[in-house]
Amino acid sequence: MTTDAQSAVVTDGFHLVIEALKLNGIDTIFGLPGIPITDFARKAQAEGLRVISFRHEQNAGNAAAIAGYLTQKPGICLTVSAPGFLNGLTALTNATTNCFPMILISGSSEREIVDLQQGDYEEMDQLAIAKPLCKAAFRVLHAEDIGVGIARAIRAAVSGRPGGVYLDLPAKLFAQTMDAEAGKRSLIRVVDPAPKQIPGSEAVKRAVDLLKGAKKPLIVLGKGAAYAQADADIRSFIEKTGIPYLPMSMAKGLLPDTHEQCVSAARSFVLPEADVVMLVGARLNWLLSHGKGKTWGGRTHKDWGGQKFIQIDISPQEADSNVRIDAPLVGDVGSCVSALLAAISTSAGSTWAKPPTEWLAAIAERKNKNVAKMAETLAKNPMPMNFHSALNVVRDIVKANPEAILVNEGANALDFTRSIVDMYRPRKRLDVGTWGIMGIGMGFSVAAAVVSGQPVIAIEGDSAFGFSGMEVETICRYNLPVCVVVFNNNGVYGGTDVNPAGGTDVAPTVFVKGARYDKLMEAFGGVGVHATTPVELRNAMEQALRSRKPTLVNAVIDETAGTESGRITSLNPQSVKKK
Ligand code: ADP
Repeated sequence: MTTDAQSAVVTDGFHLVIEALKLNGIDTIFGLPGIPITDFARKAQAEGLRVISFRHEQNAGNAAAIAGYLTQKPGICLTVSAPGFLNGLTALTNATTNCFPMILISGSSEREIVDLQQGDYEEMDQLAIAKPLCKAAFRVLHAEDIGVGIARAIRAAVSGRPGGVYLDLPAKLFAQTMDAEAGKRSLIRVVDPAPKQIPGSEAVKRAVDLLKGAKKPLIVLGKGAAYAQADADIRSFIEKTGIPYLPMSMAKGLLPDTHEQCVSAARSFVLPEADVVMLVGARLNWLLSHGKGKTWGGRTHKDWGGQKFIQIDISPQEADSNVRIDAPLVGDVGSCVSALLAAISTSAGSTWAKPPTEWLAAIAERKNKNVAKMAETLAKNPMPMNFHSALNVVRDIVKANPEAILVNEGANALDFTRSIVDMYRPRKRLDVGTWGIMGIGMGFSVAAAVVSGQPVIAIEGDSAFGFSGMEVETICRYNLPVCVVVFNNNGVYGGTDVNPAGGTDVAPTVFVKGARYDKLMEAFGGVGVHATTPVELRNAMEQALRSRKPTLVNAVIDETAGTESGRITSLNPQSVKKK
């Protein structure tokens, strides 16, 4: 609050934005200062907001997005105009794709000059560019509209299917003044920003009837289920019905992966075999082979396997997006699952029939076989380390530290970690999500540590780490309990490609051999460890978790150990082999 020449108490755009955010329970901003938002970042910190400053806006944006996922409050990312905005936009779009609530607030240049294209500093029509790439986009031109602008952004981000929102704040807005009392009255505290959406009783009955008739039922839990924070009811529904469940990547740990009804280890058996599949906050997108094809028992890749689907989703448009949904259940996961719980207790009392024993026995047999096979592979101790022997260590460490958050990206480093490392608690696994995007690693790690206060373990492919690696400085600056493990196999997928033309340049997938990523962390005062054996890796990770010091372990992995494109080789067009 300031006082003008006439001593009338006035406020300005800076303070109104800060007050509007605080009024709505926002306590942290992730961003990167510069023109025209440097002073805004300073004032926000002065007024009690936590401002976490990054080295690149994309990482700040990824941090905001995952903070939104973890807290159900929109994560805020603050950037400068044009290039900073564009850097943040990738994260905003990724947040929207993944249904994470986030608001990208970017300063922008003078509207009059931008609209006449007169060549302003960092001139860009940011609102128009953001619009098709996020859930909603707004611009505030007048200080008295700041309250409405922030309120609309918050509601848009968290209500219904969560997503990314762009808020354009022109430089001039920040310095605009208005009467302080009127300014205060113009702010809005959003009431019930993500209202419950209760499913219709007929839809609940349809779903329960389908489940009741199933011989081989299966539940698929997605990250929408994890986001919903309805953990106890979800667990109760699964245990009461006795239906086997398959967690999607970020739903791992919603119930412990070691739960006897978890069928991750028999995925390729249960998908084609199941007769009724209930999707809970999971989309039938590419990660589930679109609900058809050979994965689901279809004869061709477009053929549908004959399953009946129940789908719980907050978005009514999600049903029938890939195959017919026989029982859509539209509502928030919490309300839907509690309605289902009520329905199964009234319709069947405590005698809800568990799935047929043949189905459960067939799954158990397959699961046990695969678990034994994996145990054998994990017990090997090759030199140099491979993904399995290194991940055997990570698996133990996560088991001993179930409160730690695991961030994971890469190709092979992602696929192997997902299948080898069990998770024990909800929302502890954060990864590349719907797009399979690279570059989320350090942004997610910073935000996870900041919003949870828990230790973070980031398992990174060396290629994936490169996208956000400079943020190790951010990790050190804020002294965050993050242990980064870089699985270093000298390149993208591996380090063995050679230049087919025989020139001096290395192949496009190959990096500097024997690189020491650990030195990067040391450069900023953190702990760097070079680990070539599982014992060294274990010691380093244990020490990092004990000390809570920023740590980077350069874990040397056999450069021949990776496979091209990890598990999604089929998506990589191959040229026809010459005879
Ligand atoms: P996964 O990749 O784990 O399968 P997806 O991101 O594909 O998960 O799917 C998440 C789904 O969850 C989206 O369709 C989204 O609309 C839905 N969703 C998100 N939040 C909720 C919620 N609170 N209640 C119901 N559905 C939700």
